[in-house]
Amino acid sequence: MKLHSIETVLVDIPTTRVHHLSFGAITTQNYVIVRVRDEDGVVGIGEASTIGGPAWAEESTETIKTIIDTYLTPHLVGRDPRDLQAMSVLMERLVRGNRFAKAAVEMALLDLVARSLGVPAHRLLGGKVHDQIELAWTLASGGTDADIAEGEAKLDARLHHVFKLKIGAGDPMADVAHASRIAEHFAGRARVQVDVNQAWDELTATRCIARLEAAGVALIEQPVARHNVAAMARLAARFDVAIMADEALGTPADALNLVQHAAADVFALKLTKAGGPLATMKTAAIAEAAGIPCYGGCMLETSVGTAAYLHTFVAIHGVRAGCELFGPLLLKDDLVTQPLRYHDGAIHLHDGDGFGVEIDPSKLAFYRRDRTPVLAVRTP
Ligand SMILES: [Mg+2]
Repeated sequence: MKLHSIETVLVDIPTTRVHHLSFGAITTQNYVIVRVRDEDGVVGIGEASTIGGPAWAEESTETIKTIIDTYLTPHLVGRDPRDLQAMSVLMERLVRGNRFAKAAVEMALLDLVARSLGVPAHRLLGGKVHDQIELAWTLASGGTDADIAEGEAKLDARLHHVFKLKIGAGDPMADVAHASRIAEHFAGRARVQVDVNQAWDELTATRCIARLEAAGVALIEQPVARHNVAAMARLAARFDVAIMADEALGTPADALNLVQHAAADVFALKLTKAGGPLATMKTAAIAEAAGIPCYGGCMLETSVGTAAYLHTFVAIHGVRAGCELFGPLLLKDDLVTQPLRYHDGAIHLHDGDGFGVEIDPSKLAFYRRDRTPVLAVRTP
């Protein structure tokens, strides 16, 4: 079995509403879709998603495409994709960092190998230990009343009973008032957690977390800069409310460092920031050894990336802090032929070989950045 080709496509899909985060607001999500083919024509698909270009991390979809096309593809084509570990080691040798790029390729290789074997991708990661994962929704409309209304609608639809608030962009005490009002509004009906996306310094975090904890907020995600592990450790020691590492946790080495400093109560896993499914499994193993539960994070993926994340998370016993694999629900449209299964406050594992999703060619043609408009709207 030999890898014949790797194709990268830039894709942009609008969101259903403006999504406000500490570092900006987005109305469109950007993706790199990776399609790998073996010599028999079997195709595997992967995805790298960024939020706000290189604002969340260093990579943008444009750099991801360049790294794959220029520095990875020439060395991977012709090799046996079944040697997933060897491919991963080779990518690590060829390119430093750029983990979103490597992750998208590794996802596609995993999907390809699983499809060629006729098994779901999670089997190649040891098999599933979960059939479903509790699903949070992010309330980030920019207004307290709008967030409460959106949360009520989600509760009515039985889609979510965990809400994550994006704070950190504004005045810290205004953010605390916003989050406290929402936590108190949903008390006893939904769990509320906040993501600060590194926006606070330690003193601000100390003052704000005390108030958020008193208001019943259940979890504080990445309150301070990702490099400030010492501050995270002091906050984790000081407060009962769970402190979750997201931006601070990229590689398995980061996980080990966080464990050694007791700097987080929960780890947010993401395939892209880790460098792929294999590195995510290694991170999860470190978390398990340290007794740290994991949360299934996301970068607002389409159903392609979401399925890859899901197949990995269901194979990790320690994913017991829920997940936020709601990316497809925040997008105006998707790239796949069959939607993923969302109901009763959870995302449910679907059937199928590989990641179990198929790209709809007309959707990809329409949303690809280099599309020809006449062709994009034409239906066969
Ligand atoms: Mg986060």
